[in-house]
Amino acid sequence: MTPVTFATGVTEMLDQTITTRAGRGSRPLAGKSAIVTGSTSGIGLGIARAFAAAGADVVLNGLGAWQDIERTRTDLAGEFGVAVRYSAADMMKPREIAGMVGDAEDNFGRLDILVNNAGIQHVSPVEEFPIEKWDAIIAVNLSSAFHAVRAAVPGMKARKWGRIINLCSAHSLVASPYKSAYVAAKHGLIGLSKTVAIEVAEFGVTCNTICPGYVKTPLVDKQITDQAKAHGISEADVVRDVMLVHQARKEFVRVEELAALAVFLASDAGASMTAGAIAMDGGWTQH
Ligand code: NAD
Repeated sequence: MTPVTFATGVTEMLDQTITTRAGRGSRPLAGKSAIVTGSTSGIGLGIARAFAAAGADVVLNGLGAWQDIERTRTDLAGEFGVAVRYSAADMMKPREIAGMVGDAEDNFGRLDILVNNAGIQHVSPVEEFPIEKWDAIIAVNLSSAFHAVRAAVPGMKARKWGRIINLCSAHSLVASPYKSAYVAAKHGLIGLSKTVAIEVAEFGVTCNTICPGYVKTPLVDKQITDQAKAHGISEADVVRDVMLVHQARKEFVRVEELAALAVFLASDAGASMTAGAIAMDGGWTQH
């Protein structure tokens, strides 16, 4: 598991934003509770940390070594003075996903914010794409969001407040070769999100997608190796000529930038933003 720490100054900046918007000493997500799927690593861990910093009680979820997860859980709870729980629910198993939502409602009394972030990747030409990899990517990257939303929406509608954020991708908007399952799942997740947004809009519940360009997380580190093999080029060339070729800014998107956007969408200030596919991709999809 890779720990996510905010760069010097970012936490202070977030604290200042929070203080300015919500009044001295208060935090924009105080009193709210959130699930962030796939939050033992990368973007999900960054979002869970930002939510805790903003005052939310958080359920962590994802794979990893028990000691690492327990350390993350206690560190976040201690640093930010919020309740942090962990669900080991497998995002390939509908019953465990519904159970995770039910446990959060039972333990926190409600579930206000759901971030569907868990994701996996496999890179291969379509004619060689392993069938079990296709099934797993569709299950984790698309179907898990359906199962979590299905379980969470009744409570959100009843309480007339809710926030659903689905981690999509620039690959929800455009395609790249060798990623048939990932691109299909991420395009599908935008369709699910728009539909849900329209269904729940009159109940004080929003549903948006965040569509990042490349972010340097363990998921991307693995792809650099895989893409080098698939394209027959070096890893440095993959970063420059494949990953960042369309990302006009020529830099990886940073986890803390995505986390700050997620805090905004989850706050009261995000009430009118719904059904959006919000690109944070250094200009990639507007080329
Ligand atoms: P990551 O590999 O660092 O984290 C993925 C998380 O999902 C981990 O916590 C992992 O344990 C969890 N996970 C995987 N399979 C699971 C399962 N069956 N059950 C429960 N948890 C499971 O990846 P990341 O880069 O942080 O990606 C997070 C999300 O952002 C993904 O949906 C990904 O598609 C999306 N995204 C990433 C990038 C990028 O460049 N890193 C770009 C666009 C979108």
